[in-house]
Order: sequence, then structure tokens, then C-alpha cells
Amino acid sequence: MSLRFYDTSARQVRDFTPIREGCASLYLCGATVQAPPHIGHIRSGVNFDILRRWLTHLGYAVTFCRNVTDIDDKIIRVAAEEGVPWWQVSERNQRAFTWAYDTLGCLPPTVEPRATGHVPEMIELMRRLIDAGHAYAADDGSGDVYFDVRSHPAYGELSNQRLDQVVESADSDPDRDKRDPRDFALWKGAKPGEPSWETPWGRGRPGWHLECSAMATKYMGPSFDIHGGGIDLIFPHHENEQAQSRAAGDGFAQYWLHNGMLAIGGEKMSKSIGNSLLIPQVVRKVRPVELRYYLGQAHYRSTIEYSDAALQEAAAAYQRIEGFLTRAVEVLGAITPAADVPPAFTEALNDDLGVSQGLAIVHGHVREGNTALAAGDKERAQELAAELRTMLSVLGLDPLSEQWCGGGDQGLTEVVDALVAVALEQRQAARGRKDYAAADAIRDQLADAGVVVEDTPQGPRWDLRKG
Ligand SMILES: [Zn+2]
Repeated sequence: MSLRFYDTSARQVRDFTPIREGCASLYLCGATVQAPPHIGHIRSGVNFDILRRWLTHLGYAVTFCRNVTDIDDKIIRVAAEEGVPWWQVSERNQRAFTWAYDTLGCLPPTVEPRATGHVPEMIELMRRLIDAGHAYAADDGSGDVYFDVRSHPAYGELSNQRLDQVVESADSDPDRDKRDPRDFALWKGAKPGEPSWETPWGRGRPGWHLECSAMATKYMGPSFDIHGGGIDLIFPHHENEQAQSRAAGDGFAQYWLHNGMLAIGGEKMSKSIGNSLLIPQVVRKVRPVELRYYLGQAHYRSTIEYSDAALQEAAAAYQRIEGFLTRAVEVLGAITPAADVPPAFTEALNDDLGVSQGLAIVHGHVREGNTALAAGDKERAQELAAELRTMLSVLGLDPLSEQWCGGGDQGLTEVVDALVAVALEQRQAARGRKDYAAADAIRDQLADAGVVVEDTPQGPRWDLRKG
């Protein structure tokens, strides 16, 4: 099966045909940096990181653009409450997002543009829309610029609504001079005390939708392959992005991919509940790689119902994979990743990024690999471990990769290994003279230090306690 995706715009699965052969361009609506991220925000980052890795594995040269919305109503409100400039709020939270993406193993995007760095591109796009009769500056002299939805017959196409079903746009003050209540703001006229930039239509600041159109076009051209984002962005944000760009004559996104939400008790995660699920909080419950496994394991379009129990189950599932690879390395030495993934894994990921089906193959390899190790079938164990590493690398979950095995601090690992070996020798000696109290005391002291000892037929082996 060739690569195919569920395209929100077509409301069906479509084969992926890139605009330029061998290349894939991907735009993802990134963070609005009003607050630090909770796990619901980062799910999208993990889902699209897997997509990007899969496209790369298939041989595409991927351009991945993930923007930062560094100015909006909430950022201005938070800054006013704290009595600091708006950009301090943006900077602080952007760093928190970058830390979270890095911590969860999301590869850095090719480019990460910030909205306020692209005002000239936005002015140019507004100019094109006004010249073509699709936008207008408000007659009240407020500096607002609106998109004229009635001028664009395709409006509503992405979110599958007719114009008469479209609700009023709530992104401007009710007293502003709009021609139609459904017209949305491209540009918001300056208010006293708020940040603003000069335009031919007066001072003001960007509307959210305009930012993404301007940035996507700047870095990926008038037409690009895939636009991604959370399912909650389809309307109005993505509908408006597409309307602006297509009305201006650009092809814009050829495929629209939307990830599902992370819910608690059936509701989209609110900010108050979300505070307990900020990334630094959650990576105290499980390790970052286990959180990545949790967020990435479900199909990207499904809703994840958050629960601590499910998070712990995901961590345990990841530890089964890790356990096999650790034992495999002990028995077989270094495992070189295989040149390719098994065909069934390719089928799974090609079919609208079927990560759950892919993970079923991963766990099949783990089970078979454990059996092979137990039976002393080193050749088969080696083969399975090698394929496993390649599959896990596509998912960003390879425990033996530099990313997850402690940043390659090999010197420290060797020192700990030698110290634990000394303690284990003393424990064996104590057992040898039948001093079981002393042997148990050594094991307990190691456990207090976070070293868990397991007795196996091949002798004791140790591991650092997880979580
Ligand atoms: Zn966007």
C-alpha cells in the first residue's frame, strides 16, 4: 500500500502525492505561548513528529514548519496582570514549549517562525486580498481589516458548512464596523496600551489566522503538501487560513491532517485541570520517553481519555520493549538497527499513520525476541532486535538511541556499573557463607539508592528503578 492520509478537506482517505517528487512540506500550527504546555498541547507535537519521521524514513526530503503565535489577546491579558511587557510572557512560555518538545524527543522543526517577525508578509497578503476585493479596512477608521466571507464562494469548504450555517465571527468588538457579522479580522486596530504595528490602514496587530497563512507561504511557497493541527482548529482557524490564501490566489495546503484531543472525563482539557498535567509535573510520574509512548500510541485522529492508570500502563508497555533490548544487548552485544522495517509495519504506517497497528508489530517482536533469548537462539534474537530498533526509531522511541540512553554519559555508566558489581560480589559472598541477613541488607541498600537487583538463572542483573 502506498502512503495515504485521511484528508479533513476531502473527508476521505487519499493517496499522498507530493507537489514536488521526493519532497514533502508540512506546516503545523504550533503553540500560542500564553502559558506553559500541558500534555494536551504536546500531543500534536508528538503525532506530527512521528509523521515527519515516517516521511523521512520513506525517503522524502521534509520541510517542517511549526509556528509560534507570540501575540494574542490572552498573552496581552497575562502580561497586564503581571505588569510585564507582552514579549516577556511570550519568551518565557516559548522556552517552556521548546523544553517540552525537546524533552519528549520531538525533532526540532526545519523552521520555527514567530508571528511578530512576519508583519511585512502579513501586510503584503492583506494588500493582495484588498486589491482582489476579498478584504476591506473598516470604515470606522479603527484600523481593523476584515476578510469578506461573501466574496469567496468556497468559504466553509474545509469545515463542511454552507455560508448560511456559519456562525458570527467573535474575534472583534461587537461595535466594530463589519459588513457582515461572519467576516473575520485579518488585522485588529490598535487599542490604547496594547502593542501595535504600522500598516497602510492604521496601527494594529495581527489576527491569528492571517499569521499562519503568511508564515506558511513564506517558508513553503504558495502551495505546500500537508497542513496539520488539532481537530479544534478546523473552524474557524483553518477555514479562515484556507479562505485567505485561496482567495489571494495561492493553492495553499493540499492535505489537511487533524489530531484528536486529549480529554479528561470526556471534556477537552481545561486550563485548571491542565495545571496538574503540565509537562514538568507529568515527567515526575513517568519518564519522558514513557510519556511520549503514551501520547503517541493511539491513532492520531482518536481522542485520548487521560487517566493515571493508562499512563502507567503505557510506561509498563514501554518497559517491556526496553527490557528486551537491554537483555539483548547483554547477551548479544551492540545491536545495529536493521536497514528497513518489516513490511507489515510499513503497511500500518502508510495507512493513515497507523501507529497502534505498528506498535502491535513492535510488541510481537518483543515477545518473539524474549522467547528466542530464552531458547538461546541468538541469531533470531539479533534479527528481531535489529528490526525493533529501526521501527522504534521511526516512532522516536528507541531506548538504545542517544536521545534516551542518558545522553551518552558512558564514563558515569561504567563507574556505576563497577560499583554495583562490587556490591553484588559482596552479596554473593554473604550468600555463599549463608549470611542471608547481610545479603538482603546489601540488596536493600542498593534498592534505596535506586538500583533494583533481579536474580536470574544467568546470575544477578541490575537496573535503575524506573519512574
Ligand atoms: Zn495556524
